[in-house]
Amino acid sequence: MKTIRIREGKERSLLKCHPWVFESSIASGKADAGETVRVVGPDGRFLAWAAYSPESQIRLRVWSFDEDERIDEAFFARRIGQALAWRARLPIESDGVRLVHGEADGLPGLVVDRYGDTLCAQFGAAGVDRWKSVLADALIQATGLTRLYERSDASSRELEGLPAHTGWLRGSGATEITLREQGWKLTADIALGHKTGYYLDQRDSRKLFADTVRQWRCQRVLNCFSYTGGFSVAALAGGAAHVISVDSSAPALLQAERHVALNGFAASRHQALDADVNHTLRRLLAEGQTFDAIVLDPPKFAPTVRHAERAARAYKDINRLAFKLLSPGGVLFTFSCSGGISADLFHKIVAGAGLDAGVDGMIYARTSAAADHPASVTFPEGEYLKGLVIVRTPCG
Ligand code: SAH
Repeated sequence: MKTIRIREGKERSLLKCHPWVFESSIASGKADAGETVRVVGPDGRFLAWAAYSPESQIRLRVWSFDEDERIDEAFFARRIGQALAWRARLPIESDGVRLVHGEADGLPGLVVDRYGDTLCAQFGAAGVDRWKSVLADALIQATGLTRLYERSDASSRELEGLPAHTGWLRGSGATEITLREQGWKLTADIALGHKTGYYLDQRDSRKLFADTVRQWRCQRVLNCFSYTGGFSVAALAGGAAHVISVDSSAPALLQAERHVALNGFAASRHQALDADVNHTLRRLLAEGQTFDAIVLDPPKFAPTVRHAERAARAYKDINRLAFKLLSPGGVLFTFSCSGGISADLFHKIVAGAGLDAGVDGMIYARTSAAADHPASVTFPEGEYLKGLVIVRTPCG
């Protein structure tokens, strides 16, 4: 077993059970990609068992802080068992569920989603990549399912020096799967869709959106960055008269149109706009249009804190335009999935946007990723998705 020694003073985060060690914190020691290493402090005291990532800035990802724990097949089976036990306690009204959420589930870099009878996994770090076959067996064993697809094609794998890899790890067959979420039918293609196929993390917010549209009788709805129209289906289910879905991905919009039909809504109640959201918001404003409910669910503008300033301007701009497009009493569902933007900063950005737009708003709800995407208290970086639900009120 190779030993990695941490620099003086840099062991503090490990003592607080934070699972990452950056390259700059390492005093000595090297290992192969994904190899399990013993991590010790400057005084030689045991700190953790971790996986070594020779190419990544995040050089170590901790498996366990318990010196007695062995990192073997049984360890991974235990961790997966614990992750599944947590999901079994959650009241999730969908058969699309995140079963393993990386660091929060003690399996850094691993994401596993269940889509009906099929599993889809991302191996995002050298450690889980090295244990791929063991993890695949453990997942099949623990879930009793037979199909597991790999979607290790996220750009973050490049930072780990790992090539992209996709395809069936266990089982085979069709990759398009129909999910049931709140009684809605939503299809996801685990081979071609974003992430592992769908944005399962927004499940609770889609439900809240449907409920809000229903309670406040929102008629005209604008869904920006709609992807395959999850929020659009929610709005139609909530009784909206007309929904516009805006996205720059033509295949996603085609799917949004299919989702409208699949859920029994008339095509005339929905318009798919293959366009840039920034341009569209400006055009709608110039045309004098208004909406009773608007969703802004953009992609990650700030992957890290370094990108925060530019991202803040981009968030502020779309939120300012959305505020102006809201009818009085209208409701804005605005989100950020940027790890580099804290909930506090996001709140400030949206407040600034309202001020610039000359409208005030009441905060009706704050949202985060659904509970099957947990954030652990020792790993604040896991809290990436935040949302504000704001009702427009006149300024002053
Ligand atoms: N709200 C969706 C997920 C949105 S993901 C859901 O609940 O499923 C972000 C989406 O923004 C992606 O579909 C991407 O194609 C789209 N997108 C990114 N930049 C865009 C832009 N400038 N204009 C329009 N769409 C954009």
